[in-house]
Amino acid sequence: MKKLNKIYEGKAKILYETEDPDYLIQYFKDDATAFDATKRGTILNKGICNNKISGRIFQYLEKERIPTHFKEMLDERQMLVRRVEIIPVEVTVRNIVAGGMSKLLGLEEGIVLDSPVLEYHYKNDALHDPLINEYHIFALKIATKNELSQIDDFSFQINDLLREFFAKKGIDLVDFKLEFGRLVLSDKDSEQMGNIVLADEISPDTCRLWEKNTGRKLDKDRFRRDLGKIEETYQEVAERILS
Ligand code: 5GP
Repeated sequence: MKKLNKIYEGKAKILYETEDPDYLIQYFKDDATAFDATKRGTILNKGICNNKISGRIFQYLEKERIPTHFKEMLDERQMLVRRVEIIPVEVTVRNIVAGGMSKLLGLEEGIVLDSPVLEYHYKNDALHDPLINEYHIFALKIATKNELSQIDDFSFQINDLLREFFAKKGIDLVDFKLEFGRLVLSDKDSEQMGNIVLADEISPDTCRLWEKNTGRKLDKDRFRRDLGKIEETYQEVAERILS
């Protein structure tokens, strides 16, 4: 698939158009940012690891009937994805208290939640991705009731599937962030036009992953909190997941 114009460059990825208007190339960079991009760095080969990890996870979720934007792996840093209009809401699912929830509610990290917590954050770095609720989403026409109900269902299903997936690799899924989009198709009459699919990536950049029994952090918190062994940890997660 030929790479054409760059249409978007984010903090960790670039999107390119292809000859097929329904498909884009998603390129994974080594750039790392944290705290709304006030902390910046490079994690050598992160892009390669995250492309592999996300690809493997999208394939697993597709097999379990979760619709995603993933089409196929292209090379070590690129995957082919379906074109979507991203819904500007970051959906966070939490199984164990950490990060934002620990700060927001003054709770110690590591408390296991009785049931998963789902949060919506408005996707806006300048505003620090503020916490919002469904009333904001409907009143501001960010998504319809139908769309949000599908997003909630997919998010809880993804949580169940990923907890099981990571458990088999000796990892506890603490929390993660998802982004969804509406399919944009050149065939405007297609039945799939506007369908909600999981987009973006699922990787140690977007999940908190703790090694079972030891609690060792296997995710971007190593970069955020200067814990060292960052490159090695991304590599280790990629190896565990692809094994
Ligand atoms: P928290 O709200 O605790 O900072 O983040 C919860 C989970 O969502 C963590 O696994 C974190 O990595 C992920 N997450 C939340 N916001 C973002 C974001 O803007 N970018 C990325 N890469 N991950 C995020």
